[in-house]
Amino acid sequence: MRSITRSITVAEAPHTFVPPFCLNPNCRYHSEPAAGRSAPPWFYRHGRYHTAAFSFVPRFRCRHCGRGCSRQSFRLDYYAKRILDYRELLRQLVSCGSTRDMARATASTTSTVANRIERLARGAAALHAGVLQRVGVAEPLVIDGFQNFAVSKYYPNNINLLVGQHSGLLYDCDYRTIRRSGRMSERQKRRREQLEEHFRAPSNALVEGFRTLVDSAMRVRSHLHHCPEGESSVRGAPADTSEAIKALLLLTDEKNEYKRALFGDTHYRLLTASRMIRHERTLSTEARTAENPLFVVNYFDRQLRKDLKECVRHTVCFGRNVSNVMQRMLLYRLYHNHYKAYRHRRPHERHEIRAGVDGAWIDVELERLYERRPFLSRTPPIETDRLVWLRQLVTPLGRDREYLPKFALA
Ligand SMILES: [Zn+2]
Repeated sequence: MRSITRSITVAEAPHTFVPPFCLNPNCRYHSEPAAGRSAPPWFYRHGRYHTAAFSFVPRFRCRHCGRGCSRQSFRLDYYAKRILDYRELLRQLVSCGSTRDMARATASTTSTVANRIERLARGAAALHAGVLQRVGVAEPLVIDGFQNFAVSKYYPNNINLLVGQHSGLLYDCDYRTIRRSGRMSERQKRRREQLEEHFRAPSNALVEGFRTLVDSAMRVRSHLHHCPEGESSVRGAPADTSEAIKALLLLTDEKNEYKRALFGDTHYRLLTASRMIRHERTLSTEARTAENPLFVVNYFDRQLRKDLKECVRHTVCFGRNVSNVMQRMLLYRLYHNHYKAYRHRRPHERHEIRAGVDGAWIDVELERLYERRPFLSRTPPIETDRLVWLRQLVTPLGRDREYLPKFALA
């Protein structure tokens, strides 16, 4: 069983650090395999410097392009002045801890905690891109929206989730601010109008959000088409996987926006007509039991409501910034896919295993996650994660410019 706080020893760690590649994206040693094969080494040692948090830090220089780097350049803690335990932060985050709880526990400020969550979320996004490349299972995919709010109850959101029906793996999630609807008092209606002078949610948010996830589902599917034969076999998946690999079976509830998203787009209309996409809908009033076709998302919603502080009903710890909300969601996805047992009575079965991803590969990647800095140029995230990585999601009434450190762009 994997534990967030217990490290998995995968291999003897070398005593001396060796920089894995050159930081210059135009250098031939920017690719890790090329740098690894180079003899003599592609770098030479170039002194060291001292920091209060990390003591002596060795410096290196590339023999080919002359670009310098140091041990710090490859650390998740690059530029950080204080060391916080990333594993402990993640454990608290998925155990209904608020940012302020974490700040109290680590005797730091909420902005320091938010900074470390952001670093770890970028790592989780990079890891997830690799996971999707390694999914070896064709299964029906369920799309459903999780509704919550950020900034104010006048700005509800819809976080669309794409989940494998048999594996329970969360493939993708997409954030959309939607317009507040439902019963409101006169005073509330006036307030909504006032706020909408500053920010009004787009009316087609649900359609666009759904289409983004169908795009994502198609990409997962096209990758499976290129899998060598035999790799798409799965434990626990039904016998008709070969059928499922041919056509994409999408399961949703009866929201009209989903139909509109498929029929309003020529490409998807044709794919639906030729039954390359099959869309099956289930009434949301149907009992939410394990037999319900949408069970995996109902289950995921329930877990979110109890595990992630901002998703708890009537919480005072709601999200104030949309990018930060999604960073926490990416970390929850990491926990759900790779740490949490599929069912607590089957503790050794995880969602990733059921989706056909090699658990030993995940072990190595999870070890690196808390240590190594992810690079956008080397492990490009999927489109929805890229928006989170680059802080490009729009926060309603967000007056401050989103701050993105330069090194996050490397
Ligand atoms: Zn170089």
